[in-house]
Amino acid sequence: MQTLPVKAITLGFPPSTASLVQANLLVGSFYLLFVALISQAFSGVAPVWPSAAVAMFAAIMGGWRWLPGIAIASWIGNALFMAMPSVWSLWISLGNVLGPWIAILILRRAIPDVSSALESGRGVIWFGVCVAVSAAISAGFGATAAVVNATSKLSFNDAFFTWFVCDLNSVLMLTPAFVHWWKDSRAPFKWPHGALDLWLASTTLIIMTALLFFMPANSTAPMMRAGTFLILLPLLWVALRFPQRSTFTLLSIFFVLSLIGTGMGQGAMTQIHEPYTRLQILFITVGMVTLLVSAMSFERRRVLETLNISYAELEERVVERTQQLRDNLINLEMLLDNVPVPMVITRPDQSLVIYANLAAADYFGLSIAHMVDSSSVSYFHRPEDFKALEKILEKEGSLSSHEVALRHRDGHTLWALLSAVPSRYNDIPVMMLAFQDISPVKQREIQLEHLVSTDALTGLATRRHFMQRGTEMLLTAARNKQTLALFILDLDHFKIINDTYGHPAGDVVLRRVAETCRSSLRPGDLCGRLGGEEFGVILINVNQEAAHRGAERLRRLIGQLFIQLDGDHHVNPSASIGGVLLLPSDMAATSSPNLEEAIIAADKTLYRAKNTGRNRVVFAPPIVFKHTSPPPATTTEEKI
Ligand code: GH3
Ligand code: MG
Ligand code: MG
Repeated sequence: MQTLPVKAITLGFPPSTASLVQANLLVGSFYLLFVALISQAFSGVAPVWPSAAVAMFAAIMGGWRWLPGIAIASWIGNALFMAMPSVWSLWISLGNVLGPWIAILILRRAIPDVSSALESGRGVIWFGVCVAVSAAISAGFGATAAVVNATSKLSFNDAFFTWFVCDLNSVLMLTPAFVHWWKDSRAPFKWPHGALDLWLASTTLIIMTALLFFMPANSTAPMMRAGTFLILLPLLWVALRFPQRSTFTLLSIFFVLSLIGTGMGQGAMTQIHEPYTRLQILFITVGMVTLLVSAMSFERRRVLETLNISYAELEERVVERTQQLRDNLINLEMLLDNVPVPMVITRPDQSLVIYANLAAADYFGLSIAHMVDSSSVSYFHRPEDFKALEKILEKEGSLSSHEVALRHRDGHTLWALLSAVPSRYNDIPVMMLAFQDISPVKQREIQLEHLVSTDALTGLATRRHFMQRGTEMLLTAARNKQTLALFILDLDHFKIINDTYGHPAGDVVLRRVAETCRSSLRPGDLCGRLGGEEFGVILINVNQEAAHRGAERLRRLIGQLFIQLDGDHHVNPSASIGGVLLLPSDMAATSSPNLEEAIIAADKTLYRAKNTGRNRVVFAPPIVFKHTSPPPATTTEEKI
């Protein structure tokens, strides 16, 4: 139900009753005023009926509650001013309230808030239809009364049609202004934005109305009649640019002025048989067009306003989200700063560190400030490792748990498993690196490696390591076309030393012999303990003569050893040596280098040395092995 926008003057009644009485009094008075005015202005059949506009206004704003005032005013008005018998006046007043009431019932079905029906194109169409229904109902009642009472000489049809058009044009031209002035009456009045334009448009409308309806028109009248529709120009100008109330006010001003002009026998409608009929057609057409354009413009403005609001809301949300993102980023950076895994971000294009977290700074023994903008290479133990890493990253895109040797600020090696992924940081392509420290594990691995490759008693290479290193030396020699010499050295009658002086004494002898071997070697040569009191020696890049000389020298040095033992004892060890030369060759028939084969050959000659008196060197015939063409220049990548 409609809430009543009338301020309550209670007069002892409940507020709603007081406002109802007030509203009914108000609409009734206006209704009556217009009946009086129109009956005075037009002696015959009136072309307009503004009271119908008041009745429709009452129905729109107050529903059936405001209609009693209309009914009473209509009853009184028709009886007093239209010379209708009292009963027929009541009959007419019934039609005058029934029409608007039914019209509003219909309108409410289409537009629940009937007072805003004129704010949409659809609402205006419904409004037009309902106004027509209302006009038809009250015309039905009115025409019956007119014909029965013979107040005019019109037939029922003519009376109905006259009444209908009369009501219709008045409602279309005036009710919108009434409704909007009423609705806005509680808000303080304020000129709409762009008031100058509104003044201009209003003045144009008034001047045009004056020209069209107040000019004495003789020969120009037909031309002026044709031009009456030009009045739409200022009306639509206002409808498109200003609030609806301005448009509806101008519409009613045009309505009143054009009526007065025509009533005075001036303007466009002179010299014709039915001047008001033309005016009525003009009112209905101009009224509907203006209402429609005004509604559509209002809708457009509302959509724009909604869009603006949505846009503002959207902007607000963007600002909010940006702030949230910024906060998240700060949180993320804080997280990254404090994560207990050393992490570094580098710019691969400039090989620069651009970010390091606390764990990384701690790991390298530096401050974060020191690390930022430092060269990425400086953290690697060997620069070539870094270059190799770059190449792998270039090829594979990322790295996972790649073992690297890094450098602590104090120079010691940090062993780590490096994982790297490409990413973007502050919109530049970067590489994110995370290190997992494996230094303790690596240390143990090195120690273990040392243990298995070094003989505990003599400090020489174990047999396993000798075989491994020796094979590598052989392959290098094959590539570099170098001759190698292999000696197998066995102490003579060592068992006797053990048996005579004890095992520890034997150990002392073994250590001294090992020292002698080691000290007689050049850098790059290899000496290992192959087992018991048997040693292996490999000399690199020697010729036959140097090999023989070397073996002989070694035998002599061992033979010259004078080893002091516990007590007053000493021993004078001697050794037998079986040697073999390993010669690289281009010949197709030769086989690949094989250390085992060389050891067997040297062993055989060692036996010969033993069997022929010991303390001597015997060489086997040289073994020729296949020279392999050197591979392309070694890449740093392979070194890793
Ligand atoms: P030959 O001249 O024929 O080589 O006689 P040999 O006594 O040196 O040879 P044999 O193979 O009979 O004896 C080698 C001895 O070396 C037997 C073994 O007890 C001893 N031996 C092996 N390893 C060690 C060791 O680590 N320490 C000591 N003290 N003796 C060892
Ligand atoms: Mg021996
Ligand atoms: Mg032996």
